[in-house]
Amino acid sequence: MIPADSGEPPLIGSRGTRCLRREQLQNECADSLKKISDVTARCLAALQSGDRLKFDALDRELEHSVGAKERAFGALWAHCGEHGC
Ligand SMILES: [Zn+2]
Repeated sequence: MIPADSGEPPLIGSRGTRCLRREQLQNECADSLKKISDVTARCLAALQSGDRLKFDALDRELEHSVGAKERAFGALWAHCGEHGC
């Protein structure tokens, strides 16, 4: 388990080996989740301020961020499956 308050990936995988590629991919996953969180907060602020144009722009950015998150996790799980790490 990764502690929720830690931005650091675990150094040792479930099979007891360290894989730098997995750590890199995991960092990208973490960054993509942080991006979604950030854009969501700005989206909410735009909604509450009644700024429709800003909201629409951020809503599109949020969709792109979710797509990037899906790709990041897809790459991570594909690597883990292929590499066995
Ligand atoms: Zn690996």
